[in-house]
Amino acid sequence: MKPGLGDENPHIRYVKYETPSAFRKAGAFLPKKIIEMEIYGYRLSPYMGCSKRCRYCFELHNEFIHANEVKIKINTPSVLKKTIQGLHEIKPILLDGYDCEVAEQKEGLIRSSLEIIIEYGLSVLIQTKSDLVLRDLDLLQELNDIAGFVNVSFSLTSLNQDHARIFEPYTCSPVNRLKAMKKVSDSGIQTGIILMPVLPFISDSDEVLDLLFSKAVENGCQYIVPEPLRVTASGDQRKMWFDVLRRCFPALVERYERLYPASTFGPKFGSGPRDIGYSYELSKKMDRFSEQYKIPTEFPRPPEPRSGKRPMISRYQNTLDSFM
Ligand code: SF4
Repeated sequence: MKPGLGDENPHIRYVKYETPSAFRKAGAFLPKKIIEMEIYGYRLSPYMGCSKRCRYCFELHNEFIHANEVKIKINTPSVLKKTIQGLHEIKPILLDGYDCEVAEQKEGLIRSSLEIIIEYGLSVLIQTKSDLVLRDLDLLQELNDIAGFVNVSFSLTSLNQDHARIFEPYTCSPVNRLKAMKKVSDSGIQTGIILMPVLPFISDSDEVLDLLFSKAVENGCQYIVPEPLRVTASGDQRKMWFDVLRRCFPALVERYERLYPASTFGPKFGSGPRDIGYSYELSKKMDRFSEQYKIPTEFPRPPEPRSGKRPMISRYQNTLDSFM
């Protein structure tokens, strides 16, 4: 039986362990446009692996990740606190992990980490497909007031529920992601959509994009950053993608093979469409809707930090010092 959207993936095994890697220098799979802006400096990942099994995901290409396993880095808050104290740079932290909803609801590692981040007043960027982020809206608002920059991006492919069920079966439904975005926006936190991946000939039509932009406006979206699907030249991600395509969209298989040719070697995180004409048309289309709905397709720049470098001092330490 097909899973319903947002159903818990019953095949996942959860394993707890301790590692210093929960908080580290950034390097993440995000749209190129965001990576190039070098907005964030660090990445906080309380979990390794993901239970969602989206059919285009690259998680399985990570040699440290086993299929159907999510690793819980139980020492995340202590690693974070210790590392933060040694930092001198005030670049925002990219926080992921809300998609590991089952584990996070039980362990609360993100919530505990946010309390520490608030203590040091650092900015945070979140990218998620889950509405679990709403659980922590109180902390995110507090951090937004202190740090002056909190950003929550919801990752979407399209609003079509049938497509979401096929390509990302265990995620929170697109409609619920939009509702969550509205609540985040209403709370004064910057929010928008990472339209990733745009699926050629499936989620890139005028009709689909028009609906997406109009619903995005209604729900407080402040930007839509698109990135077309990437497919590896060989290996597990390619197989997973073409399997689902053959099963659900057999008429598109040939066109995809031309757009994403197979080869023995290729980049680990795949390549975008191998047709400049396609990418050009998509970007023209995005510009048109962006202008029509007054939503930029660029990620917003955070405000400049007050000073480029400073020692990390806990707000509570500052308060204590003022009494001495
Ligand atoms: S939510 Fe989907 S795309 Fe993101 S890491 Fe999990 S399986 Fe991959």
